[in-house]
Amino acid sequence: MRIVTKIKTMQNLGLKLRSEGKSVGFVPTMGALHLGHLSLVSKSKKENDITILSVFVNPLQFGANEDFKGYPRPEKKDILLSKQKKVDIIFYPSPEEMYPRRYLTNINVKQIDQPLCGRSRPGHFKGVTTVVGKLLNIVLPERIYLGQKDAQQVVILKKMIKDLNFPVTVKVGKIIREKNGLAISSRNSYLSATQIKEATVLYQSLKKAKQKILEGERNPKKIAASMKSLINLKSSGTIEYIECINAQTLEAVKILKGTILIALAVKFGRARLIDNITVRIP
Ligand code: AMP
Repeated sequence: MRIVTKIKTMQNLGLKLRSEGKSVGFVPTMGALHLGHLSLVSKSKKENDITILSVFVNPLQFGANEDFKGYPRPEKKDILLSKQKKVDIIFYPSPEEMYPRRYLTNINVKQIDQPLCGRSRPGHFKGVTTVVGKLLNIVLPERIYLGQKDAQQVVILKKMIKDLNFPVTVKVGKIIREKNGLAISSRNSYLSATQIKEATVLYQSLKKAKQKILEGERNPKKIAASMKSLINLKSSGTIEYIECINAQTLEAVKILKGTILIALAVKFGRARLIDNITVRIP
């Protein structure tokens, strides 16, 4: 496995791989690698000649009061896991390499960055689209692998790629969960044993909501209210949002129909957990 820290080196490698006709799959991450990230690596390895993984804790996507400084950075473990997974190249730039002095440019996808996480994390998605736009220009992959865990991020990045004509195909991996149902996340390391037990209610509430919809419930407010009661009953988490919205446009709906995304964000101490489930209404 090759470790690359410089943009120019990475871009030259990307150009060389393209000219050789090799297909490149790219998995962007913020590190603290876990089975969710590694499932995307496996998917990429199946579909491409070369798999490139990036590890970059992107300062641009953290708000002033968020966990940028405390975000886990287990560098040695990440490199070891990537080697074990047979990643071909790991791109590991420094913040100064990505954002040198007088860096002035951003990518902003409007409207769909406003609901859900956009409400409590202003500027977050602008940070995400900017860094992923840069990474696509640096790595030059044929396919990019994203996790459905960050459902709004997937919708926004797909839109950016379409609107700005990035020559890359988006592949989405399913949400990888612990045995108890908790969606795996680098931020789960902030949780105490009690909080982990309590947080399992999040997926339970999503599954119950899906079942209710499949049984005929069509009122999004009723679904959200029953999820809220269950989460409040079974945990000490603070609900930030629970919403049932159009899965493609992220627009609110009065009556549930088509493909619906049920998404939630709940805070347990300093861990802000997000999870979601998709329901196709026949
Ligand atoms: P992050 O390091 O949190 O920025 O995540 C990097 C990529 O891994 C994103 O595309 C995430 O959606 C994806 N990812 C994170 N957790 C999971 C999970 N539990 N299952 C599937 N994909 C995930």
